[in-house]
Amino acid sequence: EAQKETLGFQTEVKQLLHLMIHSLYSNKEIFLRELISNASDAADKLRFLALEDGALYEDDGDLSIRLATDKEAKTLTITDNGIGMNRQDVVDHLGTIAKSGTSSFLQQLTGDQKKDSQLIGQFGVGFYSAFIVASKVEVRTRKAGESAENGVYWSSEGEGEFTVETINKSERGTEITLHLRDEETEFADGFRIRSLVKKYSDHISLPIIMKSEPLPPAEGEEAEEPKDETLNTATALWTRSKSDISDEEYQEFYKHVSHDFEDSLTWAHNRVEGKLDYTSLLYVPTNAPFDLWDRDTPRGLKLYVQRVFIMDKADQFLPMYLRFVKGVIDSNDLSLNVSREILQEDRAVTTMKTGLTKRVLDMLNKLANNEPEKYATFWKAFGQVLKEGPGEDFANKEKIANLLRFATTNDDSAEQTHSLEQYIERMQEGQDKIYYVVAENHNTAKNSPHLEVFRKKGIEVLLLSDRVDEWLMSHLSEFDGKQLVDVAKGELDLDSLDSEEDKKAKEEAEKTFESLISQMKEALSEKVQDVRVTNRLTDSPACLVVGQYDMGLQMRRLMEAAGQ
Ligand code: ADP
Ligand code: MG
Repeated sequence: EAQKETLGFQTEVKQLLHLMIHSLYSNKEIFLRELISNASDAADKLRFLALEDGALYEDDGDLSIRLATDKEAKTLTITDNGIGMNRQDVVDHLGTIAKSGTSSFLQQLTGDQKKDSQLIGQFGVGFYSAFIVASKVEVRTRKAGESAENGVYWSSEGEGEFTVETINKSERGTEITLHLRDEETEFADGFRIRSLVKKYSDHISLPIIMKSEPLPPAEGEEAEEPKDETLNTATALWTRSKSDISDEEYQEFYKHVSHDFEDSLTWAHNRVEGKLDYTSLLYVPTNAPFDLWDRDTPRGLKLYVQRVFIMDKADQFLPMYLRFVKGVIDSNDLSLNVSREILQEDRAVTTMKTGLTKRVLDMLNKLANNEPEKYATFWKAFGQVLKEGPGEDFANKEKIANLLRFATTNDDSAEQTHSLEQYIERMQEGQDKIYYVVAENHNTAKNSPHLEVFRKKGIEVLLLSDRVDEWLMSHLSEFDGKQLVDVAKGELDLDSLDSEEDKKAKEEAEKTFESLISQMKEALSEKVQDVRVTNRLTDSPACLVVGQYDMGLQMRRLMEAAGQ
């Protein structure tokens, strides 16, 4: 059954192909990095499966990637002897996009090249980027463990459809041939390809091999035979010493593990020795991925055990509120046949999680102190996620709190730029609490009548209006020994900040209004708990206050909306 089938690309693939060719044109050379990255992943997957079933190597255990160019035919071929694909794999992986949320993501694309290329970067470009430079792509592949007759041929011109056909392929793995567009024949030049491999793929841990191109022989001498040449360093990047790795190499490695297209913001590379022995290389991305808020999106680190790839997206090594972190962890303590279920219960994993969490918080702290502009970028992308921290990670509450940024009455700007430390430095003499107001949006927060007395006394108040803020504040009652106080709740203990005059005025007011207050209490007895004279207000005649231990107003609205 060698049936040839012509199938249509999933609509999303068609859209992506079209956009990619147009918006990534100025970055077209990245296609090579993507294809090499896939070949490397394929080798990782084979090594992993071969841990259980060595026969999968079929007497060919030297995994590598080979590149070959043909100037005349205008082709570039990338060959690997990794896991390979069967017919179903080919149709699934080279005809559709499996990520959920893809179509809504694609709707955000504007047609503006620069904006779109950034968005596509967050999405991950992958295999389809081959069509930036190729007018036709052919794939020949055979999956490890299957017989030679179960090879698959795939080809497409990147328009609406592709064909698949069963072929005979004795070598395991995948061979991808790009038929370059007439304007892209530079990629059929061996020297150009060599320099691209150095630039983008040096960190790939298996050898990337190309035949040498000997000079024509001098007269009377014999022509030199082309020899295999390894183009890259071919050692796992994280196993090398920090001082030998350039920033560019770290960034390229980031793109390989994260499938991101932009540089990362910062990273931390550490080796831990002692009771446990592991290496971690953790990155903070620059942009939030399009599916950051999708709770089902797989997250986590790429896990290696003794340099053997074990799994992608191992989510047991970091808490949920650090789900934006990408990178690699390589452990010498876990067993090679570790599974997700085992990870869940392993004590070493718990210890590593504690260590890695601390690493990330320290890395963010360093970024905040040394590169505040980059930190502001981080905060815009991931601040909302970090705000989940105090509720999730009790032990690191203070550290996380120190990383939070707020809008405050200091400048009334909606931008979240002020830290609690800065707030404390600006506290009034005699002030021993940190005040905040929570509202539905920044404008309401900023104009809250509860703020009047604070503005009058020159006391700064945090202006909170993000969805997670009430949740955050319900878990953050203290920072640096100072209580955090909701200005809309209970009796405000501002007396110590009152001048003698203020105190007198309040006492007098209490006397003057004694009978009015008791009348009001009676009239409103069903509706309110108490009526009090206050110096909270300067312009408004009255305001409603929630009891100190009651639910906040926002939370109340949320619960009401949920029908409770
Ligand atoms: P990603 O690498 O992010 O998964 P790609 O678009 O780069 O996305 O690749 C899509 C899928 O196609 C891969 O996940 C893999 O299953 C399959 N694939 C691509 N190239 C190869 C290859 N050389 N060998 C085996 N499978 C491959
Ligand atoms: Mg890929």
